[in-house]
Amino acid sequence: AAKKDGRGRSSTFTRSMLVVLEQREMLRRSLRTALQEGQFFLEYQPLVKPSSSVAGFEALLRWRHPLVGTIPPNVFIPMAEADGLMSDIGRWLLERACRTAMDWPSHFTLAVNLSPAEFLHEGLTDRVAQTLDLVGMRADRLELEITESVLLERTINNLDTLNTLNVLGVQISLDDFGTYYSSLSYLKNFPFDTIKIDQYFIKDLERNEKGQTIVRSIIALAHGLGMNVTAEGVETAGQAAWLQKEGCDRLQGYFLGAPMAADAIGDFLRKASATPATGLQRI
Ligand code: C2E
Ligand code: MG
Ligand code: MG
Ligand code: MG
Repeated sequence: AAKKDGRGRSSTFTRSMLVVLEQREMLRRSLRTALQEGQFFLEYQPLVKPSSSVAGFEALLRWRHPLVGTIPPNVFIPMAEADGLMSDIGRWLLERACRTAMDWPSHFTLAVNLSPAEFLHEGLTDRVAQTLDLVGMRADRLELEITESVLLERTINNLDTLNTLNVLGVQISLDDFGTYYSSLSYLKNFPFDTIKIDQYFIKDLERNEKGQTIVRSIIALAHGLGMNVTAEGVETAGQAAWLQKEGCDRLQGYFLGAPMAADAIGDFLRKASATPATGLQRI
């Protein structure tokens, strides 16, 4: 172990830290070729209306590493961002997800997440327009999800990008609302169609009165601004019933349906329409 350097810096570089670093380095290296090797795939999680009908699906990226197995996006997307790979991955997944959505009923929306690097990429709006054109998908079926962290800098350019997407007819959602800076000025200045309330606020909704007040206020705020509200991370019938009662527009979470492979969607929809129990009618 190394000596303390006297400035409060942690000084013991242990073997296990070395192992973690080596693993990260190994992952980073294999990330560079993952796209060519066809190791990425998408899962789709349903967005459900309080009437229990399915409104669409959100595409969620996964990486199937040949040795490690499936790696979640929170682990590899920051690496891909740091190594400048996310723009190419995002281009691939947008086309892939749009092609998949073309097999669904034509009123279903497709939500796609954009990382900061993807959103800030100057070719983004052209790429979106070209992809919709190529695939033959109506622009209003596509919802792009961004988080507030994307909007922290370059305010004027960001507004330009959002306005261009708006003119294209694409919908914009503010993802994970409530977890970042949550400056209300974002809501005042940017043209969002939907606010997605982060699962943090949904988790203990049934027991936490403060949490209920916050969620109720976010719903009122969004509706007052002419925006829709989606609740993320809905895991119980009680949460779903409460959100339905409070006028939340769409629900998403394991209670309504976990992320699934594209080829499982047909079965899911057949079951959802045959047994309303999969949706909210049960409550
Ligand atoms: P997100 O966009 O907020 O996605 C919701 C996350 O919550 C997903 O995790 C989903 O699997 C998980 N989730 C859904 N329902 C429940 C529930 O009832 N309970 C709990 N505890 N979790 C639930 P996932 O797939 O691991 O994605 C994590 C984050 O990674 C996403 O958060 C998003 O920010 C990012 N991400 C995922 N796919 C993509 C992508 O294609 N592109 C980009 N740029 N980011 C992505
Ligand atoms: Mg999302
Ligand atoms: Mg979210
Ligand atoms: Mg979230």
